Amino acid sequence: MKNRLAALSILLLTVSFMSCSDDKVPYLQFDNRDGVIRPGMTAEIVLTVGFEDDTTPLKPGRTLKKQFSEAPAVSVSDPGFKIVSVKQNISDEVINGTIIIRAGDELISGRSAEISAVWGGLSAGTTLNVKKNPADYLDSDGVVTDPAAYDVLVNKKRMLPGSYIPPDLVRVDVPTILVFEEVNHLRKPASDALNRMFAAAEKEKGFSLLARSGYRSYKTQVSLYDQNVAEYGAEYASRISAKPGTSEHQSGLVMDISSPVVNYQLTQDFGKTAEGKWVAENAHRFGFILRYPEGKEEVTGYTYEPWHLRWVGEELAGKIYAEGLTLEEYFGQ
Ligand SMILES: [Zn+2]
Repeated sequence: MKNRLAALSILLLTVSFMSCSDDKVPYLQFDNRDGVIRPGMTAEIVLTVGFEDDTTPLKPGRTLKKQFSEAPAVSVSDPGFKIVSVKQNISDEVINGTIIIRAGDELISGRSAEISAVWGGLSAGTTLNVKKNPADYLDSDGVVTDPAAYDVLVNKKRMLPGSYIPPDLVRVDVPTILVFEEVNHLRKPASDALNRMFAAAEKEKGFSLLARSGYRSYKTQVSLYDQNVAEYGAEYASRISAKPGTSEHQSGLVMDISSPVVNYQLTQDFGKTAEGKWVAENAHRFGFILRYPEGKEEVTGYTYEPWHLRWVGEELAGKIYAEGLTLEEYFGQ
């Protein structure tokens, strides 16, 4: 009994002397606020050292300073992201590391990389997500300055330039409906993805899907619009057809699809068919999103279009699908 009391008092004595932070077990963590990086830009993330269950400020003593004296070893999971610099800051007040990472210009929103660091025998990790700010890509006339980007945001407030023709249009390699050849074109990656999606629909479900209307040039939009104005007047024409430049179809990243079950038409009923439901639930696997979902008219400016598929790449499509967002909402517009 006496021995036990003695042991307890020694323990208490030890605890009361543990005010020096060198005696505590440190941990490493990233301070990475929103986790967002802009394409072509740098982001700064900070590695900090702290103590578990401790709110008192870090006062690094000799032992801690020694433990972290070597530079942090930082690695990135995706070669599209480059480490620009790694700096360490060790003083009597603080131990931290500042890491600057640059996202390649070509990275599409939705791409992400894992950042790992080993420092002082400890390790930490965090994620950086590429997301552009569409406001940075709009001129004063409401024309987008990134028309060829796969994650370009086009809507009634963000027009494509009249002169814009996608650089890599190809004739789609899937069954088509219309004889007007222009609409049977898409940009190469979108066309490849459409091939894979239609093949999967056939293989997994026996569904027959067809491409109805893809690329639409500015010139075509102008003649369609003028035709409608001549026929119905400007006010009604602007309600039934997109003003030239405002159609996402000009991006070459959009295909309106149909099926024999809805008689090859573009109709909201497509969304109620087994084919339409499969498309809504699986398009993201191939990099497509349902650009104008039901109930999001206020956000997108368009009523429900279960047939209008926009290619944005698999990473971005996966995020948008998982979070149930529209492209506008994803970008916080
Ligand atoms: Zn469409």
